[in-house]
Amino acid sequence: MQTCIPGLFWTRLLNWHINNERLYPWRSTKNPYHVLIAEFLLQQTNAELALTAYTEFLRLFPSILSLVHADPVDVENIIGRIGLTYRAQRLKQCAEAIVTTFDGQVPRSRNNLLTLPGVGPYIADAVLCYAFDEPTVPIDTNVIRLFSRFFGLKSNKSRPRTDKVLAENIAFLYPNPISRRENLAVLDFASLICKAKNPHCDLCPFSCLCAFTAIKTCHNN
Ligand code: SF4
Repeated sequence: MQTCIPGLFWTRLLNWHINNERLYPWRSTKNPYHVLIAEFLLQQTNAELALTAYTEFLRLFPSILSLVHADPVDVENIIGRIGLTYRAQRLKQCAEAIVTTFDGQVPRSRNNLLTLPGVGPYIADAVLCYAFDEPTVPIDTNVIRLFSRFFGLKSNKSRPRTDKVLAENIAFLYPNPISRRENLAVLDFASLICKAKNPHCDLCPFSCLCAFTAIKTCHNN
C-alpha cells in the first residue's frame, strides 16, 4: 500500500461528505446527555429508526435526573418501538450511575465512561468525540467494513469488533488531529455507499484505489 493512499482516501471522502452529510438532531448538539442517549438508541438499529425515538425520548426525559425518576415502563414503551426494549433497564442504570458516581454529569474520561452500565468502547468514544470534541475514533461494524474493504485490513478474530489490534490499525489511518468531521464522514459513507450488502462501488469516489474492488476485478478476470 502506497503511503499517499490514506491521504487520497481522506481528501476524496471529505469532499464527498460536503454534499452528502446526513443531518440528525444529535449531530447539532454537544449536550453530553443528548449525545449519550442518541448513541444508546443507535446501537443495533439504524439512524432513521433511532430518529423516531430520539425526539420523543428527550421530550419525556429531558435530563439525566428525569430519566432516573422515570417509570421503567415508559422508557420501555419509547425504545421498544424501535426494538430496543432490552436496553431500557441499562439506560436507567446508566443514568443512575451518572447521578450517584459522577454528580449528575456525563463523565469526560474514557475510563469513567466505560464504568457506566451499557457503555462500551464505541459509545464511550462517540460521546468523547461528539460531545467533548476529543480526538477519538469510535469504531463499529460500519467503520470496520469500510476500512477492511478499502485498505484490505483483516482480523483473525471471529468478532472483528472486539479486535483491539484491528481497531488500532484503523485509528492509525486517520489524519492527525482527528475530529468529528472525519468520524461523521466515515459513518455516512459506510451507510450510504459502502453498504454491507451491494456496496455502490460505481458511486465511490475512490473505487480505483480500493483493495476490495481490486480483488473483485481479479476474480472476474
Ligand atoms: S469501491 Fe466499493 S467496496 Fe471499495 S470503498 Fe468504495 S464502495 Fe466500498
